[in-house]
Amino acid sequence: HLSPKSDIEISQAADMRPIVDVAREKLGIPAEHVLPYGHYKAKLSLDYLSSLKDRPDGKLVLVTAITPTPAGEGKTTTTVGLGDALNHIGKKAIMCLREPSLGPCFGVKGGAAGGGYAQVVPMEDINLHFTGDFHAIGAANNLLSALIDNHVYWGNSLGIDPRRISWRRAVDMNDRSLRSIVSSLGGVANGFPREDGFDITVASEVMAIFCLATDFADLQRRLGDIIVAQTRDKKNIRASDLKAAGSMAALLKDAIAPNLVQTLENNPAFIHGGPFANIAHGCNSAIATKAALKLADYVVTEAGFGADLGAEKFFDIKCRKAGLKPDVTVIVATIRALKMHGGVAKDDLKLENVAALEKGFANLQRHIANVQKFGVPVIVSVNRFSTDTAAEMELLQKLTQAEGVDCVLADHWGSGGPGAAELAEKVVATIEAKPSQFKPLYADDLPLVEKVRTIARELYGASDIALDPSVKTRFAELEKEGFSHLPVCIAKTQYSFSTDANAKGAPSGHVIPVRELRLSAGAEFVVVICGDIMTMPGLPKVPAANNIEVGADGRIAGLF
Ligand code: ADP
Ligand code: MG
Repeated sequence: HLSPKSDIEISQAADMRPIVDVAREKLGIPAEHVLPYGHYKAKLSLDYLSSLKDRPDGKLVLVTAITPTPAGEGKTTTTVGLGDALNHIGKKAIMCLREPSLGPCFGVKGGAAGGGYAQVVPMEDINLHFTGDFHAIGAANNLLSALIDNHVYWGNSLGIDPRRISWRRAVDMNDRSLRSIVSSLGGVANGFPREDGFDITVASEVMAIFCLATDFADLQRRLGDIIVAQTRDKKNIRASDLKAAGSMAALLKDAIAPNLVQTLENNPAFIHGGPFANIAHGCNSAIATKAALKLADYVVTEAGFGADLGAEKFFDIKCRKAGLKPDVTVIVATIRALKMHGGVAKDDLKLENVAALEKGFANLQRHIANVQKFGVPVIVSVNRFSTDTAAEMELLQKLTQAEGVDCVLADHWGSGGPGAAELAEKVVATIEAKPSQFKPLYADDLPLVEKVRTIARELYGASDIALDPSVKTRFAELEKEGFSHLPVCIAKTQYSFSTDANAKGAPSGHVIPVRELRLSAGAEFVVVICGDIMTMPGLPKVPAANNIEVGADGRIAGLF
C-alpha cells in the first residue's frame, strides 16, 4: 500500500471540490461569507466568524513531536491524517495549520502541506504564494522600516538614536547575506548610514502579532505598541510614535481573515499565519483556531518542531494569551528518528536496530513527561515508515505503555484518513475519559529570567542558564520598564534539548547560554536567543530550489 508517487504527484491528482461547496457542505458557511481566491482557496469573512461567538467551542487537539531530523517527523502529515480520520469516523473536524515559508521550500526541508495521502491542496499554491499573506506581512514590516529611516532623514524630531534602532527588515527567504547589512549608503540624499539587518518574515514580530491578535482592533493596537528604537537617553520609541500602525494594519486588512482549503479527502483545513517554532512562537493564528473551534467539534492543530519548542510556546504563549484550553496532545514519533537519537547514523536508519531504538526512546520519554507538566493528556502516534519492523514497533509500544501512555501506529501517509482511524478513535476516547487540567508551565508574575530558567530546567533537562553581562543588564532593564509579566519565546536549535544540535536523545546537566534578548512589545513576549541560532537562515550547499521546475504544461515539478 505504500505510495510510489511523490507528494506533488499525489497532490496534482487530487479530486478537489470547489471551496465554496466545501465551506457550505462541511461547515454550513453560506457562500456570501466565503471570499474565494480562485476555485480552491478562500478567505472567510471576519464579520461572519465573529457572529459565531456565542456557539460552544469544540475540542482542541495539539499535534507535536519528538526532537526531529532535518526532514521532519510528520506533524503536518499527522495533523492532516488525523483530521481526515476524525471526519472518516463521522466526527466534524477542522485542521489548523501554518502557512509554509519560502525559506524551507527552497532550502532543506521542502514544502509544508503534509505528505503522501495526507495532504492539503492545492499544495503548489499553499507552498508558494498562497493568498499573499506573507507578502502582506513582509510589506507591513518593511513599511515600518521605511518610516523609521524616513523620520531620521527628515530631521528626527523624536530623537531616535540610529545606533539604537532595533527594528529589522524582513523577507520570506533563506538569505544569509542579509543577516547584517549597512543601509543608506551612497551619500547625503540616501539618509544616514547605519547597521541594519533582515530576519526571515516568519521570525518577524509582525508575523507574531498577526498570529496572536484576537481581532482587527487588537491587531492595530499591537502594531502601534511595537518598540522600534530608543533615543540617546534610552527612551523607547514605538510604531505609534511614528504614526505607522494604521498604514501597517491597512496592508494586513485582507490577510488577517483565515484561509480555507481542503484535504485530499475534501475535508476543511484552515491555513493561516506561519511563525517558525525555533526562532518564533510556532503556531498558526489565534483567529483561525478560535474560528475553527466555533465551526467544528474537533480542531486539530500543529505546533512546529519538537514539543520542547512548538508545544511549549503553544501552551505558554498562544493558549495563555488567547484563552485556549487544549484537550489532548498527540506526540508524533518515528522509529527512524528514535534510532537516530539512539546513535544510529543517517544512512543506517533503514536497518532494524531495537537496541538503538530503546536507547533513543529517552527522547520521546522526556517529551511525554514535559507535555504532562502542562496537565494535558498525551497520546503517542507513530508515523509509519516502510522501513519500520514489527519488532521495533512492538518494543516502542511496550516502552510507551510503560509510561502510562497509549501508543498508536498511524498510516495516513500510506492510506489517508482510514490509515489513522485508530488514532482518531483514541483521541475521541481520551478526551472523554481524561479531562485536561491545562495550565501553563510558569506564572505571569515570575521574573523574566526565572521564566527562562524554569523552561531550561523543567523541559530541557539543563542544570542552569548562563547569561552574558549585557544580557543580565537587559533582563534588569526589561523588569524595570514594566515588561516582567510577559511570557518568553525561546529561540534555540530544534535538533536538541540543548543548544548543541548534535546532542541527541535526552541530554541533561547542560547549560543554556542566553545570547540576546529582543523585546516584542506588540506581540507581548520577549524573544530569548540561546546558543548560535540565527533569525535569518541560510540555504544549504545543494538547495531544494535546484530541483524545482515548471513543465511545458505549466505544472510545477520537484516541489517535494
Ligand atoms: P513536520 O510537520 O513534522 O515537519 P511533515 O509532516 O511536513 O513533517 O513531513 C515531512 C516530510 O516527510 C514530508 O515530505 C512527508 O511527505 C514525509 N513523510 C511524512 N510521513 C512519512 C511517512 N510515513 N513515510 C514517508 N515519508 C513521510
Ligand atoms: Mg510541519
